Amino acid sequence: MQQDELWIGTMLKGRARWVVARTTDTVEEAHRRHGMSPVATAALGRLMTGTLILASSLKGEESITLRLLADGPLDGVVAVGNPQGEVRGYVGEPLVDLPLKASGKLDVATAVGSGELAVSRSLQNGEVYTGMVPLVSGEIAEDLVHYLLTSEQIPSALLLGVLVEKDYHVAGAGGLLIQPLPGATEEDIQAIESRLGQLGVGISELVAQSGNMEELIGSLMGQIPYHVLERRVAKFSCSCSKSRLTDTLVSLGKKEIADLISDGKAEMVCHFCNEHYLFNVEELQQISDQAEM
Ligand SMILES: [Zn+2]
Repeated sequence: MQQDELWIGTMLKGRARWVVARTTDTVEEAHRRHGMSPVATAALGRLMTGTLILASSLKGEESITLRLLADGPLDGVVAVGNPQGEVRGYVGEPLVDLPLKASGKLDVATAVGSGELAVSRSLQNGEVYTGMVPLVSGEIAEDLVHYLLTSEQIPSALLLGVLVEKDYHVAGAGGLLIQPLPGATEEDIQAIESRLGQLGVGISELVAQSGNMEELIGSLMGQIPYHVLERRVAKFSCSCSKSRLTDTLVSLGKKEIADLISDGKAEMVCHFCNEHYLFNVEELQQISDQAEM
């Protein structure tokens, strides 16, 4: 049984770096937790995969949040990832259904709409830096490439793909990032571009066809020599817990909590993972005792 992984390495004798992610199970878990339509699954799956790839260059306790603040029927897409390979996310409207494009592909760009991409990095010391760029297409990979070039001055090639079957389950999901490093020549960049142009099928199909990461990376790189530096496990993982939501309830104040007590119970739902947390009257009473006013 394959698991989701993220591999990092170099190519062209160290003149470029790459990250390859298999996220099939991670995206399927997001689909299952949020009960999403195929186009919502594809949009969130692409953004979660891109988030994991960008998070792979962060350190320790740092994390990154990518938000598509856009006017399409999905009503926004959010993903949060960290360098431990953990990612979570949600869309505003999980049931959005749109006709397929003429190519037979899911119409992610229309579902996302136009607007902005906000990228927030949370550093170890708690500081958060946010960069915003306009969305260029809503297809997500192109939007992230535009962000990396304009906000971070890093030219990149990025593929993100999610293959959703007729029964709505995720057959393959993954991503590839390639960034030239100092010393990369014009020929190196042409070699990378020509290789990506030769792939013929989307990365999600290649993930679905590949029995393991070596096979996937081999079929992406073709004749280009590459070297693997690091392997990490990737998974859907949320940081929510009953005690965190208890803190949220405490912050509501005694009056709001009294309303919940008169309802007989309270249910809190985590946006990111759709986990439901129930609080009974006794628990709400204790929460009220902790509240300031
Ligand atoms: Zn959660």
